[in-house]
Amino acid sequence: MFRNFKMISNVMFGRGCFTQLDDILKKRRHHSKSWVAFVVDDVFQGTILERRLPFHAKDMLLWVNVNDEPKTSYVDKLTLKTHNFARTLPSAIVGIGGGSTMDLAKALSLMLTNPGFSHDYQGWDLIKNPSVYHIAVPTLSGTGAEVSRTTVLTGPEKKLGINSDHTVFDQVILDPELIHDVPSTQRFYTGMDCYIHCIESLQGTYINEFSRAYGEKALTLCREVFLNNGPDQDEKRADADDKLMMASFFGGMSIAYSQVGACHALSYGLSYVLGTHHGIGCCIAFDALEEFYPEGVREFREMMTKHNIQLPRNITKKMSKENMDKMISVSLGLAPLWENCLGEDWKNIMTKKKAKDLFKRM
Ligand code: NAD
Ligand code: ZN
Repeated sequence: MFRNFKMISNVMFGRGCFTQLDDILKKRRHHSKSWVAFVVDDVFQGTILERRLPFHAKDMLLWVNVNDEPKTSYVDKLTLKTHNFARTLPSAIVGIGGGSTMDLAKALSLMLTNPGFSHDYQGWDLIKNPSVYHIAVPTLSGTGAEVSRTTVLTGPEKKLGINSDHTVFDQVILDPELIHDVPSTQRFYTGMDCYIHCIESLQGTYINEFSRAYGEKALTLCREVFLNNGPDQDEKRADADDKLMMASFFGGMSIAYSQVGACHALSYGLSYVLGTHHGIGCCIAFDALEEFYPEGVREFREMMTKHNIQLPRNITKKMSKENMDKMISVSLGLAPLWENCLGEDWKNIMTKKKAKDLFKRM
């Protein structure tokens, strides 16, 4: 079966284009009772961005905290809060932040129109009703969450996305000025998420010309951002921000029609058991995968050196047997990722013992 890929309806790109958000929302404010829910990373509380929000009197401002990556319980709390705010549904939801905040905005837009708990919908195409119109405004680039058809959530039993056509944003606003002040280490980790998406997609067995077209361009942009520029070359920073924002978008498009691979499978294990965040978790896992992605890992290490990044080490050293087993089972449960990396025979290559050896190296 061929995938019938749902794309975002509208995309805006350019430095300063965030100022047009009010115009976009105006078209959704059909009557005097219309209101908008802004889902904003609380890192922006008290900043210029807060003052720039096109906030109208009836609107709701939901500050979200992403110290922990999104959990289904948090999504359910936000949904209840939004339901209690007004008797009507919002005309639009605007998610402003990195991958975690964009995922929370996606999940909220789905859960406002679908009954029950968000963990009921972790999986593929379980969502029945169309979501509330939702807009992404990324302030951190690399995850590709702005283009994907999933919202990654940690639930009581699993870390798994709500994958559906209704998850896809209706509008994306790509304003590279908004990623200018991201701390350099965070920028690197989330940027590497994109780099790894490209490597895993391009070297995977699921590769096709659709994914290759996006993946090759995204990879070139990542190299321009992270190999040609050091961390403190400010004059080049604006160009690099433009490139990184498009790399994230294209990297996301690439994996949408192929798949990620071994690194993401292992990083999901780290995240589930240790709470390791996605970007840094992917970097830690990728560094252990020289055997599978030799060229990519070599280049990744070059980028780490250039940007003075020291990865945490020995993070699985004192882990209990029970946690190690859980981590292995979460990771090996992601069959399509392993199949993409290693082919149909993956179970004979990526045994429990092999996965354990890899985790022990991290
Ligand atoms: P993030 O959203 O978790 O944010 C990381 C940190 O950066 C947070 O402390 C945040 O407050 C801060 N931050 C964000 N923007 C900032 C800015 N402009 N200035 C200063 N600080 C800023 O990080 P991320 O790497 O973008 O996202 C990771 C999340 O994305 C994970 O939850 C992961 O599961 C998810 N993800 C989703 C998809 C998808 O397709 N839906 C794909 C990959 C990852
Ligand atoms: Zn990723």
